[in-house]
Amino acid sequence: MQRIGILGGTFNPIHYGHLRIAQETAEAFALSQVKFLPAAKPPLKTEPKVTAKQRAEMVQLAITTNPLFSLDTRELERNGPSYTIDTLESLRAEHPRDALCLIIGTDAFTHFDQWYRWQHILDYCHLIVVSRPPVADLDLSETLRKLLQMHQTHDATQLSQHTHGLIAMHAVTALDISSSQIRSLVHAHQNPAYLCPDVVISYIQAHQLYTDNL
Ligand code: ATP
Ligand code: MG
Repeated sequence: MQRIGILGGTFNPIHYGHLRIAQETAEAFALSQVKFLPAAKPPLKTEPKVTAKQRAEMVQLAITTNPLFSLDTRELERNGPSYTIDTLESLRAEHPRDALCLIIGTDAFTHFDQWYRWQHILDYCHLIVVSRPPVADLDLSETLRKLLQMHQTHDATQLSQHTHGLIAMHAVTALDISSSQIRSLVHAHQNPAYLCPDVVISYIQAHQLYTDNL
């Protein structure tokens, strides 16, 4: 049984926060690979001005040097909102016996119960919830507290005993970096160096991203 990490996001643009959570969860949970899945149309955000293809190209540039990481463009090939449950259904069909591990930050987990068909997501995968600054006590709804009570494990090895259904909370190096911050910096003619890879910055400059529209 393989353990496959899945990191979904808007990646507008990809930054070191994303890359570090992929690396640290891969090591802590002995993942054989991490798939980066850019959302075509994030259901809970306004549609990004930068095209999905450009966001995917930046992901590809940022991950090429890491053999564990790959770009998965299946959400770009679907019409309509990019619902995670649809993505998981198609990944599960390809990997019937592997453990699928969906990696999300604590900020995303706090509104997990607003995701489309969220009650069914753990039927397809485990959740690895990674800490994201500002780190404070998690302000979870009653519904999410109950979900955590039912599914949480404190033993990373459990994720290889089951193909889905568990939630692991995992503390990672706190990097207070966001794509919004990078977009604002570029818009203000400041340099986002050291927040994301140089290849991504070169791409942003070459395509004049974030100069007019955030
Ligand atoms: P934006 O500022 O546009 O909202 P973002 O930086 O939040 O972008 P996303 O692409 O929305 O990036 O994030 C994808 C996933 O990565 C989410 O689950 C998010 O919680 C997680 N994540 C992003 N940045 C970090 C970070 N610095 N530390 C931990 N997790 C992160
Ligand atoms: Mg965000």
